[in-house]
Amino acid sequence: MHVVPADVWIDPGRAVDKALVTHGHADHARGGHRQTIATPETLAIMELRYNTREGANPVQYSETIRLSGGVDATYIPAGHVLGSAQILLEHAGERVVITGDYKRRSDPTCAPFEVTPCDIFITEATFGLPVFTHPPIEDEMAKLLSALAEHPDQCVLVGAYALGKAQRVIAELRRAGHTQPIYLHGAMEKMCRLYEEHGVPLGELRLVADYTKEDMRGHIVVAPPSALNDRWSRRLPDPITAMASGWMRVRQRARQRGVELPLVISDHADWNELTQTIEDVNPQEVWVTHGREEALLRWCQLGQRKARALALVGREDEDE
Ligand SMILES: [Zn+2]
Ligand SMILES: [Zn+2]
Repeated sequence: MHVVPADVWIDPGRAVDKALVTHGHADHARGGHRQTIATPETLAIMELRYNTREGANPVQYSETIRLSGGVDATYIPAGHVLGSAQILLEHAGERVVITGDYKRRSDPTCAPFEVTPCDIFITEATFGLPVFTHPPIEDEMAKLLSALAEHPDQCVLVGAYALGKAQRVIAELRRAGHTQPIYLHGAMEKMCRLYEEHGVPLGELRLVADYTKEDMRGHIVVAPPSALNDRWSRRLPDPITAMASGWMRVRQRARQRGVELPLVISDHADWNELTQTIEDVNPQEVWVTHGREEALLRWCQLGQRKARALALVGREDEDE
């Protein structure tokens, strides 16, 4: 997305001169920009993933920075993952909010979404269909913990994306009173440490590679989704395969992946959160991007709201 008066790009898919980045997922944050303006947490995530620190320009939540062309930018919590932000642009008396990815549910791993009044609201719509309603996360945690309790000689292997979902699942397990050590696939370790360094306690984490099959009986193991059905999982004691994703609402997706215990846990707004947010923000105009635009456009039209689809190329969500 190009902001013409300031000549800056928001979440560009290729290396540019000046990038404003909403959050660290790969479909929003790419390496190689000459200058990257983002929250300190997002910059730390990008540094971990791309090994670059040049041109990092931190901006705190609620801090306003002046860009060229008389454009002001303010970063506002989006409630999606650690460091995630909506970006408010102000220019010539007009206010535009770009949400990036967001959700409205409480999440112990990041600052909650803030409603920001604006003229144009550019919203994601990853789960922009009325069939998508995410259940309370407490219900999904209870399912996970009861599967664990019923099978003390096995382990529950939870597939979760390495940035955001994994840490949220772990933090929610802690909140649900699960104090046992949680075992991690090696690919998750650094991101979990980064969360802890930014004030998100995750309790006792152990690397699978350091322990035996026997040690892991009756415990939870968290791994990237790609590890669920690969050779790696043979080292685990009879794993019950779970997966934490908003797409687990679609039974066929769970079946395709061989998931026995689908957990509907999403870091994106569901249909009710999307429509509620548009009502809360109450903008002059809604631009819909990043997913299933049609139903949300129709909903806006039925409510006499001006709306249009904004087609962005190359957006396949990393995190769901
Ligand atoms: Zn995202
Ligand atoms: Zn995204």
